[in-house]
Amino acid sequence: MSDTIAAIATATGGPIGILRVSGDAAIDVVSAIFAPKSGKSLRDASSGRLVFGELYDRSGDLLDCCFAAVFRAPHSYTGECMAEIQCHGAPAVLSEALSALFARGARQAAPGEFTQRAFLNGKMDLSGAEAVQELVSARTVEAARNAVAQIEGRVGTTVQHTREALLQLVAHFHAVVDFPDEEIDPFLFEQAQETLHKAASALYQLAESYERGRIIAEGVPCVILGRPNVGKSSLLNAIVGEERAIVTEQPGTTRDIIDETVRIGPVLLRILDTAGLRDTNDPVEKIGIERALQRANDAMLLLAVFDGAEDFSDDDLMVIARSHGRRAIAVVNKSDKTQSLELARLEKHFSHIVHVSARTGEGMDELLHLIPALVGLDGAVYDGSIITSARQAAALARAAERCEAALFAAQCGMTPDAVVMDAEGAIAALGEVTGQNVTQDVVGRIFSNFCVGK
Ligand code: GDP
Repeated sequence: MSDTIAAIATATGGPIGILRVSGDAAIDVVSAIFAPKSGKSLRDASSGRLVFGELYDRSGDLLDCCFAAVFRAPHSYTGECMAEIQCHGAPAVLSEALSALFARGARQAAPGEFTQRAFLNGKMDLSGAEAVQELVSARTVEAARNAVAQIEGRVGTTVQHTREALLQLVAHFHAVVDFPDEEIDPFLFEQAQETLHKAASALYQLAESYERGRIIAEGVPCVILGRPNVGKSSLLNAIVGEERAIVTEQPGTTRDIIDETVRIGPVLLRILDTAGLRDTNDPVEKIGIERALQRANDAMLLLAVFDGAEDFSDDDLMVIARSHGRRAIAVVNKSDKTQSLELARLEKHFSHIVHVSARTGEGMDELLHLIPALVGLDGAVYDGSIITSARQAAALARAAERCEAALFAAQCGMTPDAVVMDAEGAIAALGEVTGQNVTQDVVGRIFSNFCVGK
């Protein structure tokens, strides 16, 4: 028996709004406030078909002419009986309809409760359920593609196969552990090594994809660094494609930090234009420079800008020093002017140098192509194999380590129970990814981060 939950599933302000209802009484609850124009009851409608009709409020007054659909268990998102109302999106209509549903016995759904029920009813594993939220909040088409493949079970299937191989291995070894007097077949150890080796490398590969996953989900924090007047604000404008930062001939105008999020291919660049770096006694400018340096320390990518039409100055050296050892691109700006910058000096410190003119746009394509490559996203495949959840990545890394430990035990000819212990540890960690082995607390925490109605 499940109680019946209801929620508005769409954001306020759209022309159409959707209410979702799930639980044993979902179809009855919606049928009580929705009358199909056909004269039949919504209860008798075919599963998954939109039905046109009239929607009534809690007093039985007409509220809207709209659509409703029913989905019978187990063939629904949650695996329970469900019904949806697609009405006009006015907040008043939606909230009246919701209170009519409450009056008929439904209660407000908690954040993520629909997906939590889908997980608890076996419609998707925990990695798939987590990907639902990734899909809802995806800001690039690549992030969406990766998430939808995970909802379809990309991570879950890999993990499940590995888990089954390990379970089989443990079962074989248990047989040996249970009969210690019997001779151990050396072939068993060989087979175990192969299974464990395969499992460890597949799991490490998944866990390591998390760095790219974070980039996909959260974007790349990027700082534009350079002395005053080299064209940092102009570069930001050229990247963003609009006059967002202040461009002026007076050095030291960008005193605070301006930030923009811009899509560059699959990369969401969170780009900060900062105060120009220079030796100054102006206390306000000094604060701006300190902030710039702090942001540069935290950034994943630096765009170190130089004026190609001028010689190096001491302030440029400060920019070089700050970029040293970092993931950085030297952007030699003002390529439309006669060049006099000593490039050999830059080549010593930067593996990537791009000549651009923020004014004419020359070289900008090359710069924009280089960025995805530099953060490891050029040619990436968005088939769900990129982990975007820190929780999953940690569990996968733990599982991989335990496989490695079991492999070591098998290679050294340790007692079979040493192999079993680590392999079982790996199985438990994999169960955390799929949700077979998680506490109620963890499940609650995961779904509390979802939106209401999902
Ligand atoms: P910032 O202080 O580093 O942010 O530099 P700005 O973007 O404010 O630019 C300083 C000056 O350089 C302005 O007069 C810009 O018009 C000029 N400038 C910026 N980029 C270019 C460029 O590519 N070519 C030329 N010729 N001038 C540029």
